Amino acid sequence: MKQKYERPTIRKMNTGLMNKFGTRTDFDPVESIDGVAVKDLVEQYGSPVFVLSEKQIRRNYQAALRSFKTRYPKVQFAWSYKTNYLNAVCKVFHQEGSWAEVVSGFEYHKALGNGVAGHQIIFNGPDKKEADLILAIENHSLIHIDHFDELYLLIQLTERINKTAKVAIRVNFDTGVYPIWDRFGFNYENGQAWTAINKIAKANKMELVGLHCHIGTFMLSTAAYAVAAAKLCQLALKCKNELQNPLQYLDLGGGFPSTNTLKGAYLPGVDTVPSVEDFAEAITNTILEAGFATNELPLLILESGRVLIDDAGYLIGSVLANKRLSDGRRATIFDFGINILFTSNWYDHKISVAKESGQYTEETVLFGPLCMNIDVIRESIMLPLLERGDQVVVHKVGAYNMTQWMQFINMRPAVVLIDQQVKSHLIRKPENLDYLEMMEVVPDYLKT
Ligand SMILES: *Cc1c(COP(=O)(O)O)cnc(C)c1O
Repeated sequence: MKQKYERPTIRKMNTGLMNKFGTRTDFDPVESIDGVAVKDLVEQYGSPVFVLSEKQIRRNYQAALRSFKTRYPKVQFAWSYKTNYLNAVCKVFHQEGSWAEVVSGFEYHKALGNGVAGHQIIFNGPDKKEADLILAIENHSLIHIDHFDELYLLIQLTERINKTAKVAIRVNFDTGVYPIWDRFGFNYENGQAWTAINKIAKANKMELVGLHCHIGTFMLSTAAYAVAAAKLCQLALKCKNELQNPLQYLDLGGGFPSTNTLKGAYLPGVDTVPSVEDFAEAITNTILEAGFATNELPLLILESGRVLIDDAGYLIGSVLANKRLSDGRRATIFDFGINILFTSNWYDHKISVAKESGQYTEETVLFGPLCMNIDVIRESIMLPLLERGDQVVVHKVGAYNMTQWMQFINMRPAVVLIDQQVKSHLIRKPENLDYLEMMEVVPDYLKT
C-alpha cells in the first residue's frame, strides 16, 4: 500500500525515561473498564460514551465514611446532587446510606423521586422558591438558610402554614484560603451569623438544628477545614450556652479535591492532593477538642461530591482526524469536546489510548468536534500516534461533567454504568433530534 506523505519534522525523543515517580506508565493502553472491553462499549452504546464504575463509586464512599467513622462517633454523608444527579448514580449513594444534598427545586424533587425521606434531604443554595420551601417545611427537610431575605420569607411561610421549619444557617468565614466564598451564607467575623441565629431563636416556628458551611471546591488545604470547624464549633457552643439550644449537627459541606491534575500544576494530582483521611483528621480533631460534652457531640455531616465520583467516571471517545497545524504541531480531532468535557477547562485529564500503540509518542494538540475556536481539550499532551477511528479513554470525569454538559452543535451521548458483576447498563440514553425539539413550539403562522 502506498504510504501517505507527511512533511518530516525533527524532535527530541524521551521514551522510557525514569523520573522520580518511576517508569512512565502514562502510555499503557486501557483496553477495558472494570472488565468490559472499550471496543464492546463503543459497539453497543456508540462514541463518545460516558462510563461509570459502580464498584469504584462504592469503594470511594466506603473509604471516605471509614476515614471519618474511625475518628468520630457520629458521621453522615449527604450526596451532592449537582455533582452528578443521574438517578442511577444517586441511588447507589442512597443504597450506601447517603442522604441527599440539593441546591434547587428540581434537585429536591429528584431526591424525593429517588426515595429519600424528607428529613434526610438537605436543602442548600440561594435560590429556593416559595413552593419548594413550603414542601421542605412540610417534609421536615433540613433547610439551610443562605441570606436574610430567605430567613424573613421562611418566618412568614411558617406562620402562614402554621408549621415549624427545621433550619440551619450557612456560615462563611476567613479560613486562610482566598478569595473567601462570602457570597453564600452569613459572615462569621462581622457578627452577621450570630445576628441570624438570634433572629431564628426569636421566631416562633423556626427550630435551629444545625450549622453549615461549604468553604470552596477542590480545596487543597486541610488547615482551612480545621479553621472552619473551629469557628462552627464556637458558634454551636454559643448557641448552647447563651440560647440554651445545643445543636444537633455541624455540616462541613463538600470541597475535598479529587486526584485530577489542575492545569498548570507541576506535579500530578495523585502525588500532591491531600487524602480524605487528611481532611478527616483535621476536622474531627478540631471538633473533639472544641469543648463539647461527650454525650453532646454534634452529628458531623459531609456533603462531598467531586472526591466520591470523579475517578469512577470515564469518557470514551474516538479520533476523527489528524492534522498538522501551520507551525508544524500535530493536532488530533476527537468526537468529544468541551461541550461534554467541561472539566477540561480546569484539569489536565489523563488520556489513555485504548489499544497497544508502541513507545513512540509525540506532542499533540487535542481538539473537540465543535466549529468553535475555543473547543480545545488540551493545548499540549504526549500521545502515541493515533489514527482515525482509534479510541481513547479520558480518566476521572465523573464529577460535574454529566450535569454541566451542554447541548451545542452535538447532542449529549449515552451514559453507561458498569455494575459489580461486570455487566453494563444504559443509565442515560443518547439524545436525539426528537428529544431536542420536544420543547420547541413553532407558531402557526410560520408553519406554512
Ligand atoms: C457543590 C456543593 C457541594 C459539593 O462540592 P464538592 O466540591 O463537589 O465536594 C457540597 N455542598 C454545597 C453547598 C455545594 O454547593
